[in-house]
Amino acid sequence: MRRKLVAGNWKMNGDRASLVELEEIARAAGEHGGVDVAVAVPFTLIERAASFVPTLAIGAQDIHPNDSGAHTGDISAAQVREAGARFVIVGHSERRGDHGETSHDAWAKAAAGHRHGLQVILCCGETEAERDAGRAERVVQAQVEKSLPDDADGGWLTLAYEPRWAIGTGRTPTLDEIAAIHCIARAKMRHMIGDKADGVRILYGGSVTGDNAGTILAVPDVDGALVGGASLTAAKFMPIIAAAA
Ligand code: 13P
Repeated sequence: MRRKLVAGNWKMNGDRASLVELEEIARAAGEHGGVDVAVAVPFTLIERAASFVPTLAIGAQDIHPNDSGAHTGDISAAQVREAGARFVIVGHSERRGDHGETSHDAWAKAAAGHRHGLQVILCCGETEAERDAGRAERVVQAQVEKSLPDDADGGWLTLAYEPRWAIGTGRTPTLDEIAAIHCIARAKMRHMIGDKADGVRILYGGSVTGDNAGTILAVPDVDGALVGGASLTAAKFMPIIAAAA
């Protein structure tokens, strides 16, 4: 039985004043002990957030695949871990879109996170053009194939399906479309890592709100949500945590 995980992704939002939201979120998480709750904050807030709300899993939104070196502006898994991050998001579609990251990059970053004791949320998801062309399932299969480390298991890795066209748009796939992709992603993982795939959570992400979380989280094989905009305030995030409970 996989525990549900509701993870927030603050993206390039938030400042020290927003840390009070995390306090409220931690309180809600405490009330729903059956759900894992986590929030990925900007790098600059990791250390403060981790000490301000020690009961909440604080994470990073990206890392460099290498452990150290001449990579101006980048940050390593060890550095975010030292700052207090417990997990990292890799392969997010905004990293792919804004920075040209590939599934191979996501694979290398996932491995780096694991090497340094971080939980990893590995993202995949098709673009609108790919869905319109009827290629969504094949795209996600190929992304999983290229980015899932051989030693992946549910103890450290979570997959997140985030269709790029659903992010921040208020649009979501139908429940059947979500179910189909999650089913295909799990089948692909099973093909790659065998029975260990059954322990890997698959989150849905893209315009999840308090209003739609209940129905999305009830879809078979949806083990939680990766939430952007609605994770920025406790008022919007807490109903999603409650829906997962
Ligand atoms: P929104 O919830 O704002 O659509 O963002 C989803 C996302 O990209 C989370 O990583």
